[in-house]
Parts: sequence; structure tokens; C-alpha cells
Amino acid sequence: MRRKLVAGNWKMHGLRAQLPEIEAIAAAAAVTPAVDVALCVPFTLIHPAAQVAGSLPIGAQDLHEADQGAHTGCISAPMLVEEGATLTIVGHSERRGDQHETSHDAYMKAAAAHRHGLGVILCCGELEAERAAGRAERIVQSQIEKSLPDDADPSWLTLAYEPRWAIGTGKTPTPDEIASMHAILRAKLRMMIGEAKADGIRILYGGSVTGANAAQILALDNVDGALVGGASLTAEKFVPILRGAA
Ligand code: 13P
Repeated sequence: MRRKLVAGNWKMHGLRAQLPEIEAIAAAAAVTPAVDVALCVPFTLIHPAAQVAGSLPIGAQDLHEADQGAHTGCISAPMLVEEGATLTIVGHSERRGDQHETSHDAYMKAAAAHRHGLGVILCCGELEAERAAGRAERIVQSQIEKSLPDDADPSWLTLAYEPRWAIGTGKTPTPDEIASMHAILRAKLRMMIGEAKADGIRILYGGSVTGANAAQILALDNVDGALVGGASLTAEKFVPILRGAA
């Protein structure tokens, strides 16, 4: 039985003035024990967030694949650990789009994170044009083939299906489309790492999840939680999603 995970992704939002929101989200998570909750914040907020978050896991949104070196502007897994992060997102579609990251980059980054004991939320998802061309399934399968760590295991790895065109747009796939893609992902995992491990790995849905649609989406087969952007920025918007998952 997979426990639901609702993870917030604050993207490039949040100054220390927003720490009270993190405290409020942590307090709500503490009284919603049926659901796992995590918050992935900007690098600059990891340490202060971890200090106020109590048992709420604080994560990063990216990392460099190397532990150290001449990589101006980059942050490594040991740095994240030192700041108090316990997980990280890799392969987010905004990294793929804005920073031209590939599935192989996500593979390397996931391995680096795991080497240092961080949990990983590995993202995949198609563009609107790819879906329109009937290529969504093939694209997502190929992303997983190229990015899934060799030693993928439910103890540290979570997948997130986030169709690019649903992110921040208020548009979501239909329930059937979400369930169908999650079933495809489950089948892909089974083929790659065997049924026992594959069936333990959580597959989150991300893209315009709100308090209004969370319960319906989270009730779908193989949807084991949500990765939430805009609606994770305040406790007022995020807490109803936690309730929808419980
Ligand atoms: P929105 O919830 O703002 O659509 O963002 C989803 C997302 O990209 C989470 O990683």
C-alpha cells in the first residue's frame, strides 16, 4: 500500500518573509498523519525553512551532478545536505525547458542525490505539441528509460508525471488521461526494475493541482500524490490539497 505524498514546489518564489507560511504548512502536515508532505524551496530558503519546519521534510528543486568542482553558480548534494535538505526534485520540465536539461542529466543528478542520502522526485512529462501529435506516451516512456536510476527503489525514489502544458495554466488532463499515463508509467517501472520495487514507487501527478481538483485526481488508480506549484505557496491554498489526499 503506497502512502500518498503531497510535495510543494515553490519554484523561484519565497523570501524569509514567507517563513510563517512554511510554519503553518508544517503545522497542518503534523495533524494530517495519513499523508506524507514535503516542501521544495529555493536554495536560499532551505536552511531557514528547515529550522522552522519541524518534521516537515524540506527539499531542493535541482542540484549539480558533481559533489564539488569548477561549476560557477551550481549547488551540490553535500551542500544541500549541509543546509538541511532531505530530498530534491530532478528533471523538472522548467529545468528541461529553461536550462536545456536532458533525461540523462536527470539520471546523473538523481544518482548524485542518492549517493548523499537525499530522496528524489524524478519528473517527466510531455509538451503540448507532443500530446497533440499523439506522442505523449512514447515521450514519457523514453524520458523514464533515460533517467530512471539503476538502483531505483521506493525507499528513496518518487516519480512525478507533469505534462508541461498543464503547469501553471489551470488546464489539466482528463481523469482518464491521467490514469492512463500513470498506468503506462507503472508498467514501464515494472519492466525496468521488476514488479516488487515498481509497485512500491509513488507516482505523483503535477500540473494545476488545487484544493478544488485534488481529491478527484488523487483518487485515480496509480496516482500516489501530487507535486504542486502555485497552490503550495500559502497554507490557505495548500492545506485543502493535503485534506484532499487524506
Ligand atoms: P502548478 O501547480 O503551478 O501548475 O505547477 C506544477 C509544477 O510544476 C510543480 O512542480
